[in-house]
Amino acid sequence: MSGILVVAEHMRGKLADISAELVGAALSIKNHVGGGLSVVVIGKDAALFEKQVNLAGVDKVMLVPVEEEHFDAAVTEQALCSIIEKEQPELVLLAHSASGLSVAAGLAVRLGGGFVSDVFGIGFDNGRLRATRSGYGGKVNIELECPDKPVIVMTLRGATFKAASGDGQAQIQEIGIDLAPVAKRRSRHGEYIEAPSSGVDIGKAEFILSVGRGIQDEKNIPRFQELADRLGATLGCSRPVADSGWLDKGHQVGLTGKVAVNCKLYIALGISGAVQHLHGMKHIETIIAINTDPNAPIFNVATYGGVMDVFEFAGALEKIS
Ligand SMILES: Cc1cc2nc3c(=O)[nH]c(=O)nc-3n(C[C@H](O)[C@H](O)[C@H](O)COP(=O)(O)OP(=O)(O)OC[C@H]3O[C@@H](n4cnc5c(N)ncnc54)[C@H](O)[C@@H]3O)c2cc1C
Repeated sequence: MSGILVVAEHMRGKLADISAELVGAALSIKNHVGGGLSVVVIGKDAALFEKQVNLAGVDKVMLVPVEEEHFDAAVTEQALCSIIEKEQPELVLLAHSASGLSVAAGLAVRLGGGFVSDVFGIGFDNGRLRATRSGYGGKVNIELECPDKPVIVMTLRGATFKAASGDGQAQIQEIGIDLAPVAKRRSRHGEYIEAPSSGVDIGKAEFILSVGRGIQDEKNIPRFQELADRLGATLGCSRPVADSGWLDKGHQVGLTGKVAVNCKLYIALGISGAVQHLHGMKHIETIIAINTDPNAPIFNVATYGGVMDVFEFAGALEKIS
């Protein structure tokens, strides 16, 4: 077995950003794995995405048109099983999303393969594929290998890997799948229910001003929102701020929030720097941390730190911005 198969994700006529990120992750290890890099798109509108997934470095795009209007886990699993049995990839990458998760583990079991979910690091060590994910509520990073497995199925965390870009010259193939084995399914698509949107995209923001429990009260949010707007920053927050409903979940940075993948400047105001928060921002080139506690762990990752009151700091910025 050799090569990598990326399963593109799409919904309601739109390709999910994670699809290009999966290709990016695959490209970073393609030379080690050996073989080609294929992208498969399953769905009624599969052909719609041909150009978008034909990214530089992709060798083959497989389009699998099916009758189902919406994502269907049983259909996707059946289609992937057939393709994997024929193509024999060594590694299969899916999104760590509701759709990806509803397929990936079952697929791995059917193929007798290895399975790793919520992967945020992927690499090679001594010729062995190694995935990194977190454990114990994000307190430790765990490195996992799946030795002696004919195929490894992984779901990768979104907004974590650099998206592939540029036009590719992949071979395009349309594939028909026999879906008779899943004709009698137990689940059907009902409806889409929109999640409340904060209109904020932490993954895309280049400058984030982030607030933590140190801002004391919900009534102080407008002041920091205004400051962020004046500075041209996106307002981020720690989990307690989102959990208390002071800001929508979309603002949350960290393990159970978003990773600030594209951020270049991060200002952390009244954030202690718990490992779960650091997970979403410690990689950022320039971090400015303001905290009254000189021993706050956020200072371990800060480029510049100020042991001071966040309101004093905000007041000084308001004067100059
Ligand atoms: C499974 C799991 C997943 C999690 N995921 C996330 C996640 O995605 N993102 C996340 O952020 N957390 C996450 N957490 C929670 C995390 O462990 C911390 O509890 C959280 O990050 C703390 O938020 P905080 O720094 O705002 O609050 P605190 O830890 O309470 O820190 C507040 C800080 O403000 C400082 N301060 C107080 N008053 C002032 C002032 N006037 N001026 C300046 N500084 C002041 C204090 O010194 C303190 O350091 C997760 C936890 C678990 C178990």
